[in-house]
Amino acid sequence: MNSVLECTPEELAERFREQGIEPFRARQVAGWVFGRGVRAFEAMTDLAQPLRAELASGWRTTALEPEGELRSRDGTTKLLLRTEDGGRIETVIIQEDRRRTVCVSSQIGCSLDCPFCATGRLGLLRNLRTGEIVDQVLQARDVLAARGEHPTHMVFMGMGEPLLNLRHVIPALRILTHPGALAFSPGRITVSTAGVVPQMPVLGRAIRVRLAVSLHATTDEVRDRLVPLNQRFPIASLLEACRAYPLPPRGRISFEYTPIRDLNDSTEDATRLVRLVSGIRAHVNLIPLNEHPASSFERAKPERVDRFAGVLARARVPVTVRQSRGDDILAACGQLGASDPPLAAAAVGR
Ligand code: SF4
Repeated sequence: MNSVLECTPEELAERFREQGIEPFRARQVAGWVFGRGVRAFEAMTDLAQPLRAELASGWRTTALEPEGELRSRDGTTKLLLRTEDGGRIETVIIQEDRRRTVCVSSQIGCSLDCPFCATGRLGLLRNLRTGEIVDQVLQARDVLAARGEHPTHMVFMGMGEPLLNLRHVIPALRILTHPGALAFSPGRITVSTAGVVPQMPVLGRAIRVRLAVSLHATTDEVRDRLVPLNQRFPIASLLEACRAYPLPPRGRISFEYTPIRDLNDSTEDATRLVRLVSGIRAHVNLIPLNEHPASSFERAKPERVDRFAGVLARARVPVTVRQSRGDDILAACGQLGASDPPLAAAAVGR
């Protein structure tokens, strides 16, 4: 069946034309689904009854079933969503001051197997389709709307490596940012990568969103351990791709760095990090390690993190020490997929 969630308004108009439906109806349907969050064709009162019935029999407006919702002490919300073929994914809403950030998943599981990450333990079950990515944002928007709030930012930092699913992530970004669909500003969307170097220019050429790079180490020796993808694309090639990445105006590349006790949290590491990012419009986020049942790494001591941040700040590298959000409901970075053992065994297609 066709899915409205996989089309920009222009693409929808084209598909309608092919099916003998007046193309201008696409704008109306997109307005209902993306603008007002109305999914039932029956409720689209400016469409004639026979057209509503025709659309209902040939088009879908949903891709995911809500399965549950967990709310953390700090306000973080984790949505548990089910795909039509029985796969389970997690989408997180992070609440920070006035920001409401939707953390989107791009794959079920992940092939990259970073040892501190629960999602990586699952292996890759499959890529999410465009409509499944878009629907996560629509469902998060509904949850926020019920509280009188709305999403202000979006990060592709949930389950999976988005740059290994650009075939679906780029069309989803086009729909999310299209003025006739979700109309989200590209400058408020961050796509995170563990360093899939050949795909970075592909993303940059397709759409000017912000980029976050999970760096986590300053030597190839340590990064090979923490982000095994480094064995294929070492730090030097990753930073070269960062230098060439077309940033949005006033944009910076966020370098995500998780200080781990006695592994990458020394002042020597901080000094090397300053050298590595020199010449790049960079922002370093120091993210506390979130423990999960499958990881043996320990969080760096706060005084070491402060010292690390101090080295960066003195070198005028913008740095933020992040608080962990949602760790009591396993919704924090690296914890998605850890909460639900059946997730690993979920029967999914493709
Ligand atoms: S940290 Fe990201 S890239 Fe690494 S295994 Fe987890 S989801 Fe995949």
